[in-house]
Amino acid sequence: MSITVLRPATTNADHDWRLRGNCLDVDPDVMHPDDRNHFGEQEAKKICAGCPVATQCLKESFDLRDWHGIRAGLTGNERRNLDPTNPPKRCKRCNAQFVPRLDTQVRCRTCARLADGNRAKGAKR
Ligand code: SF4
Ligand SMILES: [Zn+2]
Repeated sequence: MSITVLRPATTNADHDWRLRGNCLDVDPDVMHPDDRNHFGEQEAKKICAGCPVATQCLKESFDLRDWHGIRAGLTGNERRNLDPTNPPKRCKRCNAQFVPRLDTQVRCRTCARLADGNRAKGAKR
C-alpha cells in the first residue's frame, strides 16, 4: 500500500525572500511592539529601513491581510490605510512614516495624540 504525502501548496522557494530580510535574526517581539509603544515602533521601523525585500514583505502583508507588527516600515494601521492615492508622509515631530487621514495632517497619530494631551493639560492650568 502506498502512502500519499500531502504537501503544502507553497514551496520553500516562495519564501526565500524572507531569508534576505533585515529582521531575519531579530526577536519577533521587537517587530511586534505594543500599540502604545511608540519607542518600540520606531525601533522596529529602523530595522525595516533599507530592507531589500520590503516590497515582497508589504505585498505579503496585503495578500494575507496581516496587520500585525511592523512590516516594510509601516504599522498595521498604516498598511491597512495604504492607498496609492494617499501615500505615507513623514511625521514632522518624530520622522516616522504614517498615512495621513487628511491632507493637512503633518504628525503621526501618536505625536498628534501627545500634542492633544499637552494642549488639554495646558487648558486645565
Ligand atoms: S520589511 Fe521589515 S518586516 Fe519585512 S522583511 Fe524587511 S525588515 Fe522584516
Ligand atoms: Zn510622530
